[in-house]
Amino acid sequence: MGCLFCNIISGKTPSTKVFENEKVYAFKDINPQAPFHVLAVHKEHTKNIDELNENNSHIMSDLFLAINQIAKQENLDKGYRVIINNGPAAGQVIWHLHIHILAGKDDLGPMLLK
Ligand code: 5GP
Ligand code: ZN
Repeated sequence: MGCLFCNIISGKTPSTKVFENEKVYAFKDINPQAPFHVLAVHKEHTKNIDELNENNSHIMSDLFLAINQIAKQENLDKGYRVIINNGPAAGQVIWHLHIHILAGKDDLGPMLLK
């Protein structure tokens, strides 16, 4: 079975690109939860944080360095929130590690609904 985000990275599935470098691809979420809602994915497929180890931990630094650049490129100077839904209880539905970047409001609201 194919991976949707691998297909988005390869261009097989269309997406609205926001940023790309050698390692990371970032695109608009199809169902935005804030005025700015972008997903950053590594070009190397990993399921989620549970698959990280000494050999692939560069995935996280590559992603966060890309987010640093995206924030500058998109003028997210008021702040932004990054979210990783890891596993079923967190609502992960796409099994390719991704970081949500949310912004575009003066107040993004509480971190979690109680
Ligand atoms: P998760 O719940 O796994 O953390 O988040 C998956 C995210 O992927 C959701 O916010 C959902 O809206 C987004 N998404 C699902 N399918 C597509 C798609 O085909 N294209 C884009 N751009 N986003 C998608
Ligand atoms: Zn994948």
